[in-house]
Amino acid sequence: MQKLYIFDTTLRDGEQSLGITLNINEKLAIARQLVVLGVDIIEAGFPASSPGDMNSVRTISREVKGAIICGLTRAVEKDIDCCAEALREAEQPRIHTGIAVSPVHMEKKLHMSPDQVIETAVAAVKHAKKYVHDVEFYAEDAFRSDPEFLVRIVEKVIQAGATVVNIPDTVGYATPWQYAELVSFVMNNVKNIETTIVSTHCHNDLGMATANSLAGIRAGVRQVEGTINGIGERAGNTSLEEVIMAIYSQKSLYGVETGINTREIAATSRLVSTITGVPVPNHKAIVGANAFMHASGIHQDGILKEKETYEIIDPEIVGVPRNLIVLSARSGRHALKHRLEELGYTENRYDLEAVYKKFLDLADRKKEIFDEDLHVLMGLNGKDANGISIANISVATNGVSSATATVSLEINGEGITDAACGNGPVDAVFKAIDRILRIPVNLEDFSLNSVSRGSEALGNAMVKVRCSENGVVVGRGVSTDIIEAAAKAYVNALSKITTC
Ligand SMILES: [Zn+2]
Repeated sequence: MQKLYIFDTTLRDGEQSLGITLNINEKLAIARQLVVLGVDIIEAGFPASSPGDMNSVRTISREVKGAIICGLTRAVEKDIDCCAEALREAEQPRIHTGIAVSPVHMEKKLHMSPDQVIETAVAAVKHAKKYVHDVEFYAEDAFRSDPEFLVRIVEKVIQAGATVVNIPDTVGYATPWQYAELVSFVMNNVKNIETTIVSTHCHNDLGMATANSLAGIRAGVRQVEGTINGIGERAGNTSLEEVIMAIYSQKSLYGVETGINTREIAATSRLVSTITGVPVPNHKAIVGANAFMHASGIHQDGILKEKETYEIIDPEIVGVPRNLIVLSARSGRHALKHRLEELGYTENRYDLEAVYKKFLDLADRKKEIFDEDLHVLMGLNGKDANGISIANISVATNGVSSATATVSLEINGEGITDAACGNGPVDAVFKAIDRILRIPVNLEDFSLNSVSRGSEALGNAMVKVRCSENGVVVGRGVSTDIIEAAAKAYVNALSKITTC
């Protein structure tokens, strides 16, 4: 079996698509979990794009060990200098540089002739090689390029020292057989191709990113680029968890294996969704809430007789335990600890007494506690919003659309109360919080969904606020009371804004 390298770009392609600025702690949490998951390469950002990106690639390089840390650049010297500087403390640094190779990009965007593009590409790879051994070259929009030209440029960048060559379908236009044909053409016609690793980077505009990546593997690709939950530009990137489990399910079909610890997939998906504020659809392959649920009576009957009738993957393989017991206020510490262990929370990662107290608190308001609730409980554990907490909220609605809210916040131990009117209760609560915190922001988005089942389900609120210095910041809040969930999310977002 040959090794298939898993290249995660959640923090680069994923983040750039969200219009969100994740803070460094959030990026570190994702990067660390990616190491636990076992990805080979973490693309941590595009250092030349902003001082914030520079700083986060630098911090991840210093703090995160156990994977190659990669930074993206254009084929521009100062980008590469900046990237090399950001990667200086990385254990295994990689510079990912490249240029567009399709006629439309070369003529309309770059205003360069094909020869000039080759010259620029070679110069960029050579420049990057001055800093690091491991240099990946991306041929942007390769799928829409002239294959003969693609062969020429790939051969030249390998001569210049590229260790990995990325053949992206930047615009998500390919079908699997066409993509495989292009990769085969490169494999068969680039003379020095065996000295390099060929990589795929597909987008999902036609819903075929995973299929195209798998077709690429069959044609000789040995690195797959993608993101957790498939987040990314437009319709997203290749979902790494889908590629990983497709290979896991039918190894002999692909002849490759990955170094991924599949049991960490569910936890990684949850973390990325929580931090980015991008929900995972219930029907999403591998990581959706319903991915392993059997709703129809015929299916349930089959599953009870023999799991294999309707189940191609044992949910435990991706870190989703089979749920047989539902916890309630009558459950003791031992039952809680046991369930948490099954969900992947080892006892040294939390304080059982503190979690049990929160558990009882929740069980008082909600009869049955499901796994989803426990994940929320664990996420809230020890994650206080920079010394700001909500002491009290009361809302009076007058008429259909207007409301008055009184909110009391505790800021570093000091209580402050204010009231405001708004169009409905949530608007009134946000305005009251604004009057207390006085952080100028624009509310960009607000959504509310339930975490688990039943009318007592936890409300999970997400807000996105924009401020001039931090860009868009996401806040999350969870409560059995939806107004409180909204208020928590709003306070959580505002507490992440340091200077505005
Ligand atoms: Zn991309």
